[in-house]
Formats: sequence, C-alpha cells, structure tokens
Amino acid sequence: MQDVLVVADLRGATLRNVTLEALYGAGVIAQGGRVTALLCGHNVSSLAETLFAHGAHEVLVVDDERLQVYQPELYRKAVQAAVDEVNPRTVLFAHSAVGRDLAPAIAALYRAGQVSDVIGIAAKDDQVIYTRPVYAGKAFTKNEITGDLAIVTIRPNNLPVSEFMQASKTAKKLDVSFGGDLRTTIKDVMKKVSGGVDLTEAKIIVSGGRGVKSAEGFEPLRELARVLGAAVGASRGACDAGYCDYAMQIGQTGKVVTPDLYIACGISGAIQHLAGMSNAKVIVAINKDPEAPIFKVADYGIVGDLFEVVPALTQELRAF
Ligand code: FAD
Repeated sequence: MQDVLVVADLRGATLRNVTLEALYGAGVIAQGGRVTALLCGHNVSSLAETLFAHGAHEVLVVDDERLQVYQPELYRKAVQAAVDEVNPRTVLFAHSAVGRDLAPAIAALYRAGQVSDVIGIAAKDDQVIYTRPVYAGKAFTKNEITGDLAIVTIRPNNLPVSEFMQASKTAKKLDVSFGGDLRTTIKDVMKKVSGGVDLTEAKIIVSGGRGVKSAEGFEPLRELARVLGAAVGASRGACDAGYCDYAMQIGQTGKVVTPDLYIACGISGAIQHLAGMSNAKVIVAINKDPEAPIFKVADYGIVGDLFEVVPALTQELRAF
C-alpha cells in the first residue's frame, strides 16, 4: 500500500483525458493507499469534481492568475509544495509537453528515480512494475523504481479510465509561496490544431503522407476526419514537403499516438513513422503500392489511389 500524487494535465481550463488514465494507474499503484490529485491553474477548482469521480480521494488546488499558461518555475514550486504536503511514494504526470518538462525537474529536485512514457502498470505487494516502449516501439522494458520517491509519466490512451469511484468532496486550497523573480516566463502559447482534436488524445486519426502530394491534397483527409470526429496527422515526408505543419507530424521525431483507429493515407510505413503509431488498436492503410511496408502493420489494407478511396469512404461514412 502507498500514497500516490497525480498532477492533473490541463489544456486551457479542460482536463486532458490522460489525467483520468493516470488516476486509474494511481489506484493500481496505491493498492488501497491514498490518491491525491493536484490541480494547477486559474479558476480550475470546478474540475475537482471530475477528479473525485475518477478515483481521487483528495484534490489540492493551486490557483493563481499566472498559472493560466504553463510556467515551468511556478508549476515546479506548486508540485513541490504538493509533494511536501502529501509525502507520496509515487508522483504521476502525463507524458505531455508539460509533463515531460516538469517530471524530470521534480525527479532531480528530490533525487528520485523516473520512468517515462509508461503504457502499463502492474502492482503486487510492494512491487510496482512499469512497462514502457523502447527502440521506437519495437520492444518493451519492464521497470521498477527503487528509492523513496518514484516519478512516472503516462503515455495518453493506454490505460483505462475508471468511473465514479469516490464520492465528491471539497477540494483543498494549497497555498504556495511563489516569491522572487522568475528567470523564465511564458508569455503566450500558440496552439496548432489538427482538425480541432488533440492528436495525442484522439481516438481516431486520419493521417497523410507524401502521397497526398500537396497542401490542398489534405482536404479530402480533413473532410473524412470531420465526418469521423477525428484528428488529422501526417508523416514527416508530408511535413518536409511543406504540405502541412510539423505540429501534425507523427513518428519517432514527432508525436506518439495510440488511437483506436489510425487511417494512413499515402504513407509508405517507414520505421520512424511506425514508431509513432504502430500501437494504434486498428490500422487501416490506403496506398497505391501493394508492396508498401505499411501493409505489414495494417489490420486492413486498401490498395488504391487515395484521391478515389478517401472521398468514397467519406461518402459511405456520412450515411451513418
Ligand atoms: P514516402 O516514403 O515517399 O511514401 C509515400 C507513399 O505514398 C508511397 O508508399 C506511395 O506508394 C504512396 N502514394 C503515392 N501516391 C499515392 C496515391 N495517389 N494514393 C495512395 N498512395 C499513394 N518519418 C515520420 O513519418 N515521422 C517521424 O517522426 C520521422 N522521424 C525521422 C527521424 C529520422 C532520424 C529519420 C532519418 C527519418 C525520420 N522520418 C520520420 C522519415 C522517414 O524515414 C520517411 O522518410 C517518411 O516517413 C516518409 O514519409 P511518407 O511515407 O509520407 O513518404
């Protein structure tokens, strides 16, 4: 049994689903111990309700106007205050841009062990085993953190979400003395959207490669994504060719995604691309080359011209 702290991951004033997955993971790790969630932001205390409903026994809120956007130094102080208050054995973060920045800073501060990009958690007695992918998703390692404090980041879309575990209570305000001059301040965050849906949390992704041939060539993919409520992604080939923004890139040097459905259009299936999407639950590949490597990982393959196949799919799906 152990106490666990979950640092909530927000997108503006909205909770990202990965926080609820982390709460599930915290329940597995805690084995009857206390699960505390930390909310950092401005006017976000109403989100505590959702955290209680998904497994938090206690919610700490650090509310400050300056926390509206991620400020590394202030967030670090807030997490530090929560760790000192709760004295957890494990702290869970999302493996998001914020979590990837914050978690190592906290690990260094407490000289704690860290496992990043975790996709599976198993706990028995005092032992907690974390599974994470290595070698661009070709293998998995099982890791245990020894020591007094464990820092863990959770890859989105891999753990389940439990519902309605704890009765709703009142969140507790945590006072943090931010003091002093900040060495770094973030003035603004420029958001790049991919079909309006966050790529790393999307349940369905329609992705385009160099086979899309131009920026305009992405339009049929966007239309399909609109019908499916999907996000639009891309290969590096498409990004390098200037067809789309690098924020859409999926793969080893782009975003890692785990949707329920990944539709790859005009993507050859290079190993670096597979590193970012091969854990999707169902992969559909549309490619005019029957020998394209993407078909080796695809559950369903359509050999054909994407400019014929994608609009036909969209038309069929619109009828539902
Ligand atoms: P291509 O390989 O050119 O494939 C285009 C495909 O489209 C072909 O299979 C073709 O048959 C098909 N096609 C063409 N026209 C049509 C049509 N009308 N209808 C249907 N199909 C059609 N790549 C990534 O994606 N993500 C990364 O993060 C990444 N990181 C990298 C890191 C490093 C260090 C290196 C060296 C490379 C990295 N790459 C990455 C690049 C990767 O190696 C490939 O070059 C890239 O993925 C190829 O993109 P693509 O599949 O879109 O293009």
